[in-house]
Amino acid sequence: MVYPVIIIGGGFSGLILANQLQKDGINYLLLERNDRLGKKILATGNGRGNISNEDLSLNHYHSQNQSFCDYAIKTFDNGLIGGFFSEKGILLTSENGRLYPLSKQANAILDCLRLSILETNYRLNSYVKDITHNGKTFEVITADNKYYAQKVVLAVGGKSASHFGTDGSSYKLAQKFGHKLTKLYPSLVQLTTNKESVKGLKGVKENAKVTAFDGEKMLTSTYGDILFTDNGVSGNTIFYLSAYLSGAKNPYVSIDFLYQADIKECKQSLISRKNAFKTLTADTFLSGLVHSRISQKVAKSVLGEDYNKLQYNDLTDKDIDKLIYALKNTKITITGDTGFNNSQVTKGGIDTLDIDYMTMQSKLCKNLYLCGEVLDVDGDCGGYNLQWAFSSSMCAYRSIKGDL
Ligand SMILES: Cc1cc2nc3c(=O)[nH]c(=O)nc-3n(C[C@H](O)[C@H](O)[C@H](O)COP(=O)(O)OP(=O)(O)OC[C@H]3O[C@@H](n4cnc5c(N)ncnc54)[C@H](O)[C@@H]3O)c2cc1C
Repeated sequence: MVYPVIIIGGGFSGLILANQLQKDGINYLLLERNDRLGKKILATGNGRGNISNEDLSLNHYHSQNQSFCDYAIKTFDNGLIGGFFSEKGILLTSENGRLYPLSKQANAILDCLRLSILETNYRLNSYVKDITHNGKTFEVITADNKYYAQKVVLAVGGKSASHFGTDGSSYKLAQKFGHKLTKLYPSLVQLTTNKESVKGLKGVKENAKVTAFDGEKMLTSTYGDILFTDNGVSGNTIFYLSAYLSGAKNPYVSIDFLYQADIKECKQSLISRKNAFKTLTADTFLSGLVHSRISQKVAKSVLGEDYNKLQYNDLTDKDIDKLIYALKNTKITITGDTGFNNSQVTKGGIDTLDIDYMTMQSKLCKNLYLCGEVLDVDGDCGGYNLQWAFSSSMCAYRSIKGDL
């Protein structure tokens, strides 16, 4: 038989499309390589399913062809994703702009997507290794079977987190139709630094303003948690900045631990501290402002190796200014990242210049569609990637429905 539609990939975008086709009574077959559908969805938002963001705009997306996703995210926006899930009994709630199901459980999202489609419409353990096209019909080839379709949708994801079935091996399904692959980078990922710059800080978590630089060029800033690991930095701020730092030639971050404090007040308080505890050693001097291990590290960097021999009383006014400056401008050179397997999303993908932005249809092969992370579109941390998977999938759905 020839299916009207075959969807390859049962992740978020594939399942959104399957739900829509199921609702309209359009026959389709979904092929998923894993032994269950939507495995990755369960891990999103730390198991809480951050599916969109109240602040939705092009500024939160990255691509070589930056305006490509504008139409999709405006047409099928955060209101529509809310409506889609509300119809299935899932209400969304906002936490600092990030949208989650009210239950804060990602499995609620997966269950409603999975249970809305019929078992006869999908096959598990079905890795698609090749697709051919005879000008009219697609032949979709797995290890055990061959299936035929009028239209094929590649919803195969990227190269991040291969344990969820996305190892980058499926880009070839698009490349064989002439589609180009842009350079790939892991994004929303922990960054590595040289060991010395984070030595002694493992496990320390601070609230800070963190700014990303490529050499002299300031890339962007963000506020929130920064977490120190044994070989680098992590936390919300770093995940966010990783999207901007990939590909940078001289990447570093500058940390402002005092961004919420009034500097005059800080200085006054440190002078009072000096007068109150004259004989204490300098390693603890800043520990009323930042974590004690950061206090030690900054004191050492500003006052030198012998900082522990100094007492509060020895500190000059200039020393205090330098210490405050260091707390506001701690620079850490970035040496790399922890790789695709530890990243949440892939930056880069199938070049969107060969994709129609309204329909997600290939310009190189009629009736071939691509949606979600497989394309060269990635979003910031905060629900933007699931929103993109939704918006692009809905573009494909509308076009497919119109044709059939
Ligand atoms: C730990 C983690 C947390 C995340 N948290 C968030 C979050 O809170 N908010 C957010 O917006 N984004 C989050 N993301 C990113 C988001 O999950 C993805 O961007 C999104 O799932 C992409 O959807 P997709 O449908 O394009 O691809 P995927 O969801 O990756 O699905 C692709 C599917 O295709 C299948 N597949 C691949 N190749 C083949 C083949 N050849 N044959 C058959 N099947 C195939 C895969 O097994 C997979 O099931 C997170 C990612 C990770 C890893």
